[in-house]
Amino acid sequence: MGGDLDRAVEILTGASRGCVFTGAGISAESGIPTFRDPGGIWERFDPAEVGTPEGLRTTLERDPGRLRSFLAETVATLERAEPNPGHRAVADLERMGVVDAVVTQNVDGLHTQAGSRRVIEVHGSLYRFRCLVCRETRSIERSRVLALGRALADDGVRGVAQALALLPRCACGAPMRPDVVLFGEAVQSMDRAFAAAQGADVLVVAGTSGAVYPAAALPREAKRSGAAVIDVNPGESAYGGLADVRIEGKTGVVLPELARRVAERGRGSAGRG
Ligand code: NAD
Repeated sequence: MGGDLDRAVEILTGASRGCVFTGAGISAESGIPTFRDPGGIWERFDPAEVGTPEGLRTTLERDPGRLRSFLAETVATLERAEPNPGHRAVADLERMGVVDAVVTQNVDGLHTQAGSRRVIEVHGSLYRFRCLVCRETRSIERSRVLALGRALADDGVRGVAQALALLPRCACGAPMRPDVVLFGEAVQSMDRAFAAAQGADVLVVAGTSGAVYPAAALPREAKRSGAAVIDVNPGESAYGGLADVRIEGKTGVVLPELARRVAERGRGSAGRG
């Protein structure tokens, strides 16, 4: 990894419009399993049951206990999850003026919690709710969302009516659901994400399998617009033929090392004082 790390430090030191494109892998070290790695949540739960609007409705009607188990596991995982050194390094690179946008496929809010300011959440956020009728959205505090998840998991999900009764209400009076992109639903803020990638001088791909489109097309777009592409992943790279630099390693180890070395080269200071 030495030579590749040196090249990545070189590229980042000269950058001022960096874009970091993250996937489930960057939150793996916060204890949130990825979708496709062994031990991931999709080994135990079928996306068709709990990952689509239709699947959720059917599971709620036919097997609410199954949905309660999924919710209980998800809430327990999120309650333990804190930003890890990978998230914090991304925020440090933004403070140094190297990175100016984070495009994330994650819905866990950990980039914002780590201090990143310009975060484009293309698959939505668990901490924003959307009205089922008028589609108005509203941010809801993490502690309130987790309490709601716990209430639903403990007893609330016995049927559609009971579940709907527990959901927060919009100003229009209708129930609101988490504003996350389920399978088959439209991605969010994709125009902003493409603009960030196209305007970038470097795009760092951090912990994504590159399997979920259209977000997975961002590195190609960035490259086409002249950006250098750095891919950080301990597993197989989805961007082998495209990346200028490929670093095989966990983002929680590689990104802090990159941020530290870029700071040493005079681009501000990494880490909190
Ligand atoms: P994915 O599950 O398809 O792939 C995860 C990638 O992360 C793999 O390439 C894997 O090699 C890599 N990885 C595993 N551990 C890593 C580590 N410590 N450091 C760096 N990389 C690591 O995830 P994806 O590509 O993001 O796409 C799946 C979809 O699942 C996304 O749309 C995302 O919205 C959703 N998702 C989100 C979360 C979350 O919010 N934390 C968690 C699971 C899935």
